Amino acid sequence: MTAYFNYYETTVERRAFTQLEGHHSTDVCIIGGGLTGVSSALGLAEAGIASTLLEARCIGGCASGMNGGQVIRGFAPRIQEIEAAYGMDLSIQLFKLADRGLTRVFDNVERFGIACDMRRGGLTAAIRPAHFPALMRDAEHLAALYDYPCLRPVAPAQLADYVDSPRYHGGLYDPRGGQLNPLAYVLGLAHAASRLGAQLHEYSPALHLQQRDGRWLIKTRKGSLSAERVIFASNAFTADIERALAPAILKVGTYQLATRPLSAQEAAAVGTAAVFDTHPFNHYFRKTPDQRLLFGCSIGTRQGPRPGDLRHIRRELGKLFPSLAGVEIDYVWGGWMDITANHLPDIRETRDGRIVLQGFNGHGLNTTAMAADLAVAKLQGQAQAFAPFAAIRHRALPGLPWSRLPLTWAGHIQYYLNAHLAGDRMDFA
Ligand SMILES: Cc1cc2nc3c(=O)[nH]c(=O)nc-3n(C[C@H](O)[C@H](O)[C@H](O)COP(=O)(O)OP(=O)(O)OC[C@H]3O[C@@H](n4cnc5c(N)ncnc54)[C@H](O)[C@@H]3O)c2cc1C
Repeated sequence: MTAYFNYYETTVERRAFTQLEGHHSTDVCIIGGGLTGVSSALGLAEAGIASTLLEARCIGGCASGMNGGQVIRGFAPRIQEIEAAYGMDLSIQLFKLADRGLTRVFDNVERFGIACDMRRGGLTAAIRPAHFPALMRDAEHLAALYDYPCLRPVAPAQLADYVDSPRYHGGLYDPRGGQLNPLAYVLGLAHAASRLGAQLHEYSPALHLQQRDGRWLIKTRKGSLSAERVIFASNAFTADIERALAPAILKVGTYQLATRPLSAQEAAAVGTAAVFDTHPFNHYFRKTPDQRLLFGCSIGTRQGPRPGDLRHIRRELGKLFPSLAGVEIDYVWGGWMDITANHLPDIRETRDGRIVLQGFNGHGLNTTAMAADLAVAKLQGQAQAFAPFAAIRHRALPGLPWSRLPLTWAGHIQYYLNAHLAGDRMDFA
C-alpha cells in the first residue's frame, strides 16, 4: 500500500523549535525555514549578526526537506544558455558562485557533523544517443573556460558500472557532485544555527509586515518581531505574503516516490551514484541507505501528487528499469518549486531594503547555500554582493499567482514540443 507521505520524515527524529510568543527584537528577521532561511541564519550567526527565523510550519517541511537530495553543479539551465543570454564574463562569475554554494554544502556537513548520508559523485545520463557527445562537449567547455576540469565522460559500454538501464547512452560523471538526505541536512543546519545563537521558531508564520521608524514590525499568530532587516526565504510562497515581491515566480508542484527496499540483485541495476538525465523533465534517482530507489520526474499544478501522477512516475520508472516495473511503491510525495522564466535565481534587495532570495528552479541545494552566503555578505556591508544577479532581468508573469497555473501547463506543453522538435539537440529550453 502506497502512503502519500514524505519518506524522509521516517528517517529523522525531529526536535521541535518553539513558537514565537510576545514581542521580540532582532537585527535580521528571516522568513522561511527551508534551506535558504536556515543557511542564512547559520551564516549570520557565524558572522556575529543576531537573527530570528520565522517558519510557518516546521523546519524543512517544504521543498528543502522533501527534495531529491542531489547536489548538482551550476544552475538549472545549461551553461551555454546562460552564456548566450548574459555573456561569457557574467556566466563565469555565476558558475563560480554556484560552485562555491556546492562546496559550502559539503563543508557544512563536515564542519557541523551533520549525519545526512552524504556521498560524493553524481552522473548525468544521456537519454538519446546524440546527447552523449553533447555531454562530452560540455565537459571540455567547462574544463577549458570555467576551470572545472573534473568531469569524466562515461562511454555507453562503461555505463553499467554506474547505472544499468537500457534507456541510457553514456553519461558524464561529476566527482564534485553528490547526494544527501535533505531533511536530515536542513535540520542539522537548523540545530547548528541555533547552537550558535540564532533564534528559530516553528509554526510562526509572518502574517503582516510594516515599516515603522526605520525598522520592520512583523506580526505572527502569537507574537511580533521588530527587525532592522528582513530576508524573504519563502520560496514559492513569497507571493502569498506580499504579491509585489514575486511577480516573476511560477509555483509548480513536483513529485517523487520511494520504492520498498530493493533486493541486492534489484539494487545492483540502480548503482550508487546520484543520477539525473537529459530528458526534458529530468528523471532523477538515487538509492537510499536502506536500499530504496528514490525516483522523481513529474510536475503539476498541485503540491501533492494525485494517483495519476503516481501512475506517470511509475511508468517512467518502468521504462528506465524494466525489472522494477511492478515494484511496490511505499511512499509518494511532492512539494512546490519556484520557477522563473529564465530558470535563474531572483536574488535582490528591494528599494525599501528587504532581501529577497527565490527562484531556485528545482536546483536549490547548491544555489540556496550560495544565496544565503551572498545575503550574509550583503548584510555585512558588501554593497556589491548581489551585483552578478542584478544583471539578470526577470520577466514578470501575467495574472495573479493562482491564475498563473494554466501557464504551468502551457509551459509544460511548450517544453515537450520544443524537446520533440529539437530531436537530438539538448538545448531545447
Ligand atoms: C520534489 C522536489 C525535488 C527536488 N529535488 C532537488 C534536487 O535533487 N536537487 C536540488 O538541488 N534541488 C532540488 N529541488 C529544489 C530544492 O528543494 C529547492 O530549490 C530548495 O529546497 C528551496 O529552498 P527554500 O528554503 O528556498 O524553500 P522551501 O524549502 O520551500 O522553504 C520555504 C519555507 O518558507 C516557509 N514559509 C512560507 N510562507 C511563510 C510565512 N508567511 N512565514 C514564515 N514562513 C513561511 C514555508 O513553510 C517553507 O518552509 C527539489 C524540489 C522538490 C519540491
